[in-house]
Amino acid sequence: TTFADLGLSQALLASLAQEGYETPTPIQAGAIPTLLAGKDLLGIAQTGTGKTAAFALPILHQLSQSKIRPFKRTCRTLILSPTRELAGQIADNIRLYGRNLPLTTAVVFGGQPIFRQARALERGVDVLVATPGRLLDLVSQNAVFLDKVEILVLDEADQMLDLGFIHPIRQIVSMIPKERQTLLFSATMPDSIAKLAKDLLNQPERVEV
Ligand code: AMP
Repeated sequence: TTFADLGLSQALLASLAQEGYETPTPIQAGAIPTLLAGKDLLGIAQTGTGKTAAFALPILHQLSQSKIRPFKRTCRTLILSPTRELAGQIADNIRLYGRNLPLTTAVVFGGQPIFRQARALERGVDVLVATPGRLLDLVSQNAVFLDKVEILVLDEADQMLDLGFIHPIRQIVSMIPKERQTLLFSATMPDSIAKLAKDLLNQPERVEV
C-alpha cells in the first residue's frame, strides 16, 4: 500500500514526500481509509506506531476539501492530549503535514500565559490541540466556543484518565455537537476506556496494532 492508494490529496502526498515518509505504517493503512470515509474510530496503539499521522492526515484532508472556514473563537477540529509535551508534538506534526494547505493550527496548555493563547483563538482555527484543563479555562473566559467542532480526537485516552481528566473530558464533550466524527486512541483498553468509547463513539471501526 502507498499513501496515494489510501486516498490522500496531492498536497498531503507532497508533504509526506518532503518528510521522507515512503510507506504507511499498519495503523495508518488501517485508519486512514476509515477516517476519510467519515467513520468514528477506536484506535488501540502506542506512541511510535505512527498514530499521529494516522489521524492528522485524514483530518487535514477533510478540512481542506470542505469550503467551511473557521468562525471567530471556534475550532473545526479539537484534539485533546494528556500533556503539554504531547500536545506540542501533535501541533508540530500537524503544521508539518499541513504545510502545503491553507489551514490554521493552535495549541493550548497550562503553564503559559492564557491571554496569548486566547489571542491565537480570536479569529478561529481549523485545528486546536489542547490539554483538557487549559481548554476549560479558555472556555470559561469565552475565549473559545466548542459548538463548531466537526472532528473530536481523544489521544492517549488511558493516560488522560490516569491523570484524572474524566470530568473535564465529559464536560468538554457536552459542549460539542453530537453530529461529529469522533476518534479515540488508547494504548490499553481497561473498562473505563471501553465505557468512554461506548459513550462517545458512534459505531466505530476498531483498529488495533
Ligand atoms: P508517532 O507514533 O505518531 O509518535 O510517530 C512516531 C514517529 O514515526 C514520528 O517521528 C513520525 O514522524 C514517524 N513516522 C510516522 N509515520 C511514518 C511513516 N509512514 N514513515 C516514516 N516515518 C513515520
